[in-house]
This record gives sequence, structure tokens and C-alpha cells, in this order.
Amino acid sequence: MDLHKLTIHEAQNLLKNKSISSRELTRAVFERINNVEPSVDAYISLTKDIALEQAESADKAISENNIQPLTGIPLGIKDLICTKGVATTCASKILENFIPPYDATVMDKLNAAGAVMVGKVNMDEFAMGSSTENSGIKITKNPWNLAHVPGGSSGGSAAAVAADMCLGSLGSDTGGSIRQPASHCGVVGVKPTYGRVSRFGLVAFASSLDQIGPLAKDVTDAAILLQMVAGYDPKDSTSIDKPVPDYCAALSGSVKGLKIGIPKEYHTSDGMSPDVLSAVQNAMDLYKEAGAELVDISLPHSEYAVAAYYLIAPAEACSNLARYDAVKYGLRDKESASLIDMYRNTRSSGFGPEVQRRILLGTYALSAGYYDAYYKKASQIRTLIKNDFMQAFDVCDVILSPVTPTPAFKIGENTDDPLTMYLSDIFTLSANLAGIPGLSVPCGISQAGLPIGLQLMGNYFDEQRILNAAYCFEQGTEFHKMRAKL
Ligand code: GLN
Repeated sequence: MDLHKLTIHEAQNLLKNKSISSRELTRAVFERINNVEPSVDAYISLTKDIALEQAESADKAISENNIQPLTGIPLGIKDLICTKGVATTCASKILENFIPPYDATVMDKLNAAGAVMVGKVNMDEFAMGSSTENSGIKITKNPWNLAHVPGGSSGGSAAAVAADMCLGSLGSDTGGSIRQPASHCGVVGVKPTYGRVSRFGLVAFASSLDQIGPLAKDVTDAAILLQMVAGYDPKDSTSIDKPVPDYCAALSGSVKGLKIGIPKEYHTSDGMSPDVLSAVQNAMDLYKEAGAELVDISLPHSEYAVAAYYLIAPAEACSNLARYDAVKYGLRDKESASLIDMYRNTRSSGFGPEVQRRILLGTYALSAGYYDAYYKKASQIRTLIKNDFMQAFDVCDVILSPVTPTPAFKIGENTDDPLTMYLSDIFTLSANLAGIPGLSVPCGISQAGLPIGLQLMGNYFDEQRILNAAYCFEQGTEFHKMRAKL
């Protein structure tokens, strides 16, 4: 048996009945990494010693019948989630040597649930990007076709899962960074409701938009991982104190009577790949056959979402990134003669071009005289976008759309054209602006052999409903079982 190919729920069963040990499973994952990581480049750092130690404790716990849901399960962690004693670089030169003195709350939760940490996965620098080409460390390749990007910013998280170099992973989503790479790599990715998962220890990009969430081989695994990381955290003032439902128990697979909203603004053919259009159409047909009702809806302010996001996110980013001043964290230019020079030289050499572009955009949008015209207007649009969703959820239960206009593009194809890159987020960032949950589930394969994802968005704290709708889709299709051939 190829242990690295297992899903989390399959491995759980085998571990529980002692058919395999976590040490065997963890070793199999590292062997897989030896074989395919040189071509995929999903990891920034591997934590094999920690992993084997955790696997040993897991085996001991299992032998004592003390099993938590993730006991002995090897996972990859996006490199902007603080891990105590393990470098957390955000794929940035400025944080290359940053070793957090504490764990993020999600890490506390994973550790308490018995998980094994395989390593820290690659991403676009500070999560700014849609392809991992903005990583200051390396470019991750799409396991389905190494000439293509895996998506981003959680490209390492998605590629590592798709290439079976971990059983599941955590990513973060500020404008689509879990759903878009999940879609491009043929895995399931969930962006939870804003406030559902603690952001304590998540290095901030745009604090009012960021959420941590799972990337997994199927919906059941995504539900298990979300269950483990969700919940109130007094250390995060934006975390919401609301009971976490049993996500796995919600997976009945039935969508009878479910009202699925089809937003007309998301289902145009403008700039859309015919492969994506037909995969999404097939998904709609499947849902109809399964007894769901398709309802036409409108999200009239969608056309302003990209513009609003690319003002709000950089504005928040420029203030969040002000802390990297060469004094308190990471890189410091030691040659500088004055303090101002030290700031300037460190930040100029430590931040990559996209991060610098966002800092400039954000500083401009917040500056006196422009604040009202840009930042304030964008915030007002944000409210209108949220209201659009609220009105839509009066008449439907979930919203169905593509995740991205096209399957994964080629490495280098969009690097000289930031605007085209920004437009690839067109279907995902509204959910962040509104704060609602969304997921991507594999729904097709393009002519060129690349995966296509289907987006399902839900009302606040209604993750269980979109998970169940995605589960229903999985039951009727084989896409989640298809794997990249490496
Ligand atoms: N691609 C978007 C951006 O570059 C979203 C990133 C994200 O969700 N972290 O900002």
C-alpha cells in the first residue's frame, strides 16, 4: 500500500485499528517528498526530526487507546503560521531567519489533536499573489503539469497535498488564496467565515480579510481539519464566540430542496475558459438531478470587488508591514549609516517587488487627501458587496460559481502584468470582503489535463452547508479521486 496516498479519514481508520503506525505513515510521506519535492518545490523547510518525534508520541497514544482526530496524521503548514522554534519566513527575505517564540492558536490546536508537522510550505511573499511566483524563496510547480503555477498564495499548501507530500495542510485566504490554489491543484480548500478560525499567530497581511483554512484531498478531510482549527479564541479579538457544529456529521450528501443561487455576474463568458464554463455547467446539472433547486440571483456590485479589494488589502498591508523595520524583526542592513538609511535599505532589499508595490499602493490610498477618494470609497463598496450577499441569501442557501476564470496558467505567463494577475481573483475576493465562507471542490479537468474547481459560498457560519453540498458533488463524481501523475 502507498501510505502517502491515503486521505486523512482513511489513515485515521488504519491507525486506529493498528494496521499501520504513524511512524510508517510519516516515513512514507518523507520518502514521497524525497522523490517528488525536487520537481515540485512545495516546501520551504522540512521538520523531519519534529515529525518523527510527534509520530512516535502518536503511536504511543494510539497504543494507549488515547486517540484524537488527527493523531499521527502528517500535515504541511503554510509558512506564515507561527510555529514555535521553527522558522516562519512568509517566503520573504525580510523574515528569512525569524523563529517565532510561540505557536499560533491553530498550531496549539493541531498539536493538541495529535497532528504531525511535516514542514512549512511555500507561498507568495506575505501571501500577496496568485501563483507563488512572488515567493522570495522559490517557485512551486503545479504537480499536474510542472510548467504551470500551482496558484497562490497558498500554492505550497495545495501542491504538497496534490503531490501526496502530506495528507492535508493549512493555508490562509485573504482574497482567494486557499480556494484558487485548491482549484488549480485539484484539491479541496475551505475559507471559513471571518472570525471562525483564530488569527492569533497568523502573520497579518490584511487583518480584516485574512482567514486560515484547510486544504485537503477530499471534503471529509477538509471537514475534519476545519473542525480541529475552528472556534473562539480570546487571543484574537475578531474571533467569534459561537459553537462549532460537527462538520463531519453534516455530510449527509443530500441536497434535496437546497436552493443554489447562480449569480448572473459570475456566469458570463467574458474572459472565461470554455473548459471552466462547461465544468461549472455540468456541476449545476448534477445538483439539479440531485434534487437541488437552482435560483437566479444577482450580486450587482461584483464588478467593483477587484478595485475595492486592491485598495483595502494594500492599505491594511502597508500598516501591518510597517513593523518590519530592521529593529524588532528579521533582516537588518548593517552597512547603513543612519536609522532612516537602515529602514530604507533593509526594506528595499528585504521585500520583493510585489510587496513593495502593495506598500506603495496602500500608503497612497491612506494618505491625506486621497483617503476619502480611495480607502473610504472602497470601504463603502465593501458594505454594498456584503449587502448584495445578504439579499441573495434571502432567496438561496448557497451560491455556486467558478473559482477562477481559467485553469492554472503557465509559470511566467502573467508575471509582467499585475493587473491580469489581480483579475484572476475576480470570483473569490468578494467572499473575503463580505466575510462569508467559501470553498473550492474539484469539478473537472481541462482539455490540457489541468484541474478545475467549483466554488460554493455560504452564509455566515454556514460552513456545514457548503461542505455538505460539496460532499454531495463528490458522491456523484470521480474528480476528487484523480491525482497528479508524478
Ligand atoms: N491573490 C490575492 C492577492 O494577491 C489574494 C491573496 C490571498 O488571498 N492571500 O492579494
